[in-house]
Amino acid sequence: MLYFIDVIIPVPLQKLFTYRITSAEAEFLKPGMRVAVPFGKTKIYTGIVHHIHNNAPTAYEAKDIEQILDDTPIVNSWQLKLWQWIADYYMCTLGDVMRASLPSGFILESETLIVKNNAKDIKDSDLEDDEFLIYEALHHQSSLKIQDISNILDKKHVLPVLNRLIAKDAITLQEDIYETYKPKLVRYVKLHTTYNSEEQLHKLLDDLSRAPKQREVVMTFFSLSAQTKKPVKVTDLAKASDTSSSIIKTLIDKDILEEYFIQTDRIQYQGEENEDSKHLNDYQAAALEEIKTSFESHEVSLLHGVTSSGKTEIYVKLIEDTLKEGKQVLYLLPEIALTTQLISRLQEYFGEQVAVYHSKYSTHERVEVWNNILGDKSKARIILGARSAVLLPFSHLGLIIVDEEHEQSFKQFDPAPRYHARDTAIVLASFFKAKTLLGSATPSLESYNNTQQNKYGLVELNYRYNNVLMPDISLVDLKDKYKRKRMKGHFSDTLIEEMAETLHEGFQVILFQNRRGFSPVISCQTCGHSPQCPNCDVSLTFHQYRNQLRCHYCGYAMAMQNSCMACGSPDLDNKGFGTEQIEAEVKELFPDFKVGRMDLDTTRGKHGYEKIITALEQQEIDILVGTQMVTKGLDFRNVKLVGVLNADNMLNFPDFRAHERSFQLLLQVAGRAGRTKERGKVLIQTYNPYHTILQQVSTNNYAAMYKDQMEERYTFKYPPIYRQIKITLKHKDYNRVETGAIWYAKSLRQLFGNYVLGPESPAISRIRNQYHKNILIKIPKEQSLQRTKEAIIKINNSFLSIKDFRVVKVNLNVDNF
Ligand code: ADP
Ligand code: ZN
Ligand code: ZN
Repeated sequence: MLYFIDVIIPVPLQKLFTYRITSAEAEFLKPGMRVAVPFGKTKIYTGIVHHIHNNAPTAYEAKDIEQILDDTPIVNSWQLKLWQWIADYYMCTLGDVMRASLPSGFILESETLIVKNNAKDIKDSDLEDDEFLIYEALHHQSSLKIQDISNILDKKHVLPVLNRLIAKDAITLQEDIYETYKPKLVRYVKLHTTYNSEEQLHKLLDDLSRAPKQREVVMTFFSLSAQTKKPVKVTDLAKASDTSSSIIKTLIDKDILEEYFIQTDRIQYQGEENEDSKHLNDYQAAALEEIKTSFESHEVSLLHGVTSSGKTEIYVKLIEDTLKEGKQVLYLLPEIALTTQLISRLQEYFGEQVAVYHSKYSTHERVEVWNNILGDKSKARIILGARSAVLLPFSHLGLIIVDEEHEQSFKQFDPAPRYHARDTAIVLASFFKAKTLLGSATPSLESYNNTQQNKYGLVELNYRYNNVLMPDISLVDLKDKYKRKRMKGHFSDTLIEEMAETLHEGFQVILFQNRRGFSPVISCQTCGHSPQCPNCDVSLTFHQYRNQLRCHYCGYAMAMQNSCMACGSPDLDNKGFGTEQIEAEVKELFPDFKVGRMDLDTTRGKHGYEKIITALEQQEIDILVGTQMVTKGLDFRNVKLVGVLNADNMLNFPDFRAHERSFQLLLQVAGRAGRTKERGKVLIQTYNPYHTILQQVSTNNYAAMYKDQMEERYTFKYPPIYRQIKITLKHKDYNRVETGAIWYAKSLRQLFGNYVLGPESPAISRIRNQYHKNILIKIPKEQSLQRTKEAIIKINNSFLSIKDFRVVKVNLNVDNF
């Protein structure tokens, strides 16, 4: 009998590739093991065994495999099942899913660069002959490819040698090595509590009259803390009192001053000692019970809890319960919310059992986490990670938490698989009969809608922890402020006054400026109006080359206007303003205060993001100017005012979710204000203070927002009422994409009629020299999603069989929102 295996290789092939194996190999191999297989003329890939069978392929002669790379599977059967679901649902190949799933350390391939691991000294005697040859070669050449190694050893089968070298830590695959971020500790002093009373204080100063230098330091300490109303740094005190730090040390030794450090995770000087107590307050305890009850009848529940209501502590209780049952927990959150703050908070509770899976980790560390989960080690019971952590080798999950479930970053846009980690997590949980808890202060419409359909359970938590008040949100009318000349740059007098007051009280300010998307939307400088598409209820975008305003969904177009269609003003703006400009303006308005900026530019470096967070926590920054990044689950004690410079450019963003997103973003950013006893204040500058969304934001009225938005989704046929699939065609030759897209859309229209929109150019129609065309398909609930996808695949295959179109790249994006 002949034996074959079907293998998944990390390239986008429609079908699995079949290879021939011997009967002994058939005996040994199991699905999920890696094999090295030849592909094409010269390439060798690492593939994953999908299944073993006896059917020779009919279209080609099966080649032999090169090598078996594992003794036991590295991908388990649950994963293979999930991969299949992802490939089917998101219309991509198993190869795409494999590539997204496996840390690159697992997929040695022709293009991989191999480098010497300089961190480790390897003795020649520790290496076998073939290993030594490679190691030696890496002394002379900084990196080698698989092919080079094949030449050096003069043999085809080199992957086992490389795997041995990796295991010995002698080589690594080229990638950035992640260094753990160590926040610097800043040393502060405060007056010892003995001297809290007036009387004791007088006595102290009297006593010190014989030590004038020490007395001087104490007096300086008073004036510094009165001036800045902030904790006093040792370095500042030494400088201001013009003494050496040894005198300060003496005061500390004499118990007059007390030293302490502020670290990243918690600021302690406010004296809230019981912070790590795990006792839930009554609201939290009630919510926890409700979640448990809800899980009795629902696989998935949504915890809708206002910002700072203490959702994390509730998760912690559920995690404890799950661990007691001996099961694994997956805790998903947006990459950017995966901060040291949260990691150390969980480590405080669960110690070693917490494993973090992070895109910034080296492939080494990722392989290690993978193996720990695969082996169900006690080191990896709670897996904390962003999107791709849903692809790890779980074997008995009990609970999945998706925190900030409304976040767009759970959806992968490019490359395939274009999966949504929240939705994938729910499927994964169902394999294990595990429960999924979604958490958010501002749930996505689709999740909330699922609770209203009773598909998911719903638990509400409406009080902030410690009875902290929700921030007071007010709107500032920009139209009025400009008219009355109350603006300085982009700042209204109201905002400037509030900032000044907050800063002089010693509190911090966060200023939020929306990151302008790619789409140039026109807005009137006088009244804030942006032209809208009459069919789609989204803003029109400006296309310079045709001097038109176009809808990038349906293609509706009109000539670019010279004056505002609402108020007639000729002052139209399509440029917007960024965080950098705001930063410059703030520096001019408040020269005595330190300004920090948090956006893509300033957080690019490895620890850029954490450095800024730390600086804010340690109060080295008084005013932080930032984009969406400042909205993500940060817990700052001393921020009292949040200013939103312009709410309109969010509201006018050309996307059907613009209003929902604005609501979420504004409430999340507002949630950064006043997390302690001082009530926070939020000022939102806008041309449209009567905009429904802004009214709903200022009253924190999620229910009203939900109702309104669902009506619009219904009227304009958007998710979650309709489903959506977006098809993008790309090629460097404009005419080819254009004719291809027309052909494609026409074929779709024959089946789906008016539910097909486009083809339409996106606002930026040429990216990296490739022209783009989009086609959008709306799918009513009663239409079978499965059959719709089958029809699309058929059309897609016909398209790609036409000679002219074969070179056009087609991306399918299911749930493209
Ligand atoms: P959310 O995630 O809902 O925005 P957090 O879980 O971050 O809120 O909680 C807000 C703050 O309240 C945190 O500093 C947290 O440590 C504190 N907190 C919440 N619940 C408790 C509790 N039961 N005991 C002590 N502190 C708590
Ligand atoms: Zn106008
Ligand atoms: Zn339109």
